[in-house]
Amino acid sequence: MPNIVYSKTYAAGEEVFRIGDRGHNAFFIESGRVEVSIGENGKKVIIAELGVGEIFGEMSMIDDAPRSATVTAMEITEAIVIERSRLVKPLSSADPMTNLLLRVVLTRFRDATRQLSGLRSKADVDEASFNEIRSLAFDRINSEMKLRRALDDEEFELHYQPLITLDGGHVGGFEALIRWRKSEGGYVSPVEFIPLAEETGLIVELGRWVMERSLRDQARISEVWKSISPDMAPPFMSVNVSGMQLSDLAEIDTLADIIKKSDADPARIKLEITETLMVENADHAADALRKLKGLGVSIAIDDFGTGYSSLSYLHQFPLDTLKIDRVFVNNMDKSDNSSRIVNSIVQLALALDLDIVAEGIEEVEQMRALRELGVQYGQGFYMAKPQPLESVIELLETKPNWT
Ligand code: C2E
Ligand code: CA
Ligand code: CA
Repeated sequence: MPNIVYSKTYAAGEEVFRIGDRGHNAFFIESGRVEVSIGENGKKVIIAELGVGEIFGEMSMIDDAPRSATVTAMEITEAIVIERSRLVKPLSSADPMTNLLLRVVLTRFRDATRQLSGLRSKADVDEASFNEIRSLAFDRINSEMKLRRALDDEEFELHYQPLITLDGGHVGGFEALIRWRKSEGGYVSPVEFIPLAEETGLIVELGRWVMERSLRDQARISEVWKSISPDMAPPFMSVNVSGMQLSDLAEIDTLADIIKKSDADPARIKLEITETLMVENADHAADALRKLKGLGVSIAIDDFGTGYSSLSYLHQFPLDTLKIDRVFVNNMDKSDNSSRIVNSIVQLALALDLDIVAEGIEEVEQMRALRELGVQYGQGFYMAKPQPLESVIELLETKPNWT
């Protein structure tokens, strides 16, 4: 680990750095006083005097451009040096628009101070890197706008994939999976736009739409179901909920309203969340999950076994179902490890009294092996792919059975 924070002492009158210097550390004044000046060749203009607790040199730290001012100690001054390496990671992971705004503000500020000191020339910035930041930001804004417009123009659709009860072989529920219908035909996969919707916050509105539409469609499915299989409970609806949707607890009230207005039986609604929610902020997750459970819905952990090895959260939270990720299911017959992992997840779920859904079943052998293990539900292309509401209804009318 390089030493990225250390202290340095400057004598009275000593320059910390000079205008035009290449250097990119920032300084935090611990004791003493400095003077910040611009202008050269006798045209010196003092623009600031800084004391204990103040910071200087931060601009070059951000954009790596040459120093745009000279800083001189006015008395013995001790400063903590903050190296740029500390900022490189947060800057490169910051969203492109934040980065662009930061650069624009810096460049404008540099130009303004130069004009103040009578210098006509523009600040010396690295045009190539500026252009790259600008184009990343514009790409992002562009995709964000397309997503926004798609929501307004109702270009999203839900497809439904059956979840099969493995002992009976009939439909026990559906998972609602979002699709973006392209104007030129075909669909954009959610893996391509959900992350952007999460980053931009649009997922909250999108998530409300998903909840509303999936419950409306569930009512339609239940109606058909009652005429086909009146003696069996209608299928439940599993809805994916992003952690972002739950970051504000008030959003749960909005979701509750949608559920109430839908007339759906909360006991037939399952919300699928991922482990990230619980790992990133356990206290908040506990509040959110308790509130959701208060609505009478059940909670499933999606993609179980992928992200995190910490199992400690499992008994701390009010969960009902584990969904075994499809990588394990898909490799059960090819890898001993995968089949051992599936086995232990099943044991774990049994011990904690949780239901299991195995997703990604593509072959009849996988379905049979999971049934042998006592897994309650199976989901996968072997049984049925996600499909629009009308074809789901046609499928139900054939009274499908997977044995
Ligand atoms: P997920 O929640 O893990 O959904 C299951 C994914 O597995 C779906 O992909 C489904 O089509 C796919 N799948 C099902 N059976 C099989 C199989 O036998 N083989 C293979 N190879 N794949 C199978 P899809 O529809 O592309 O969705 C991808 C992800 O997008 C979802 O993963 C979920 O994380 C996210 N997503 C989809 N709809 C929504 C939504 O409404 N809200 C949120 N927040 N996320 C959503
Ligand atoms: Ca899911
Ligand atoms: Ca999953």
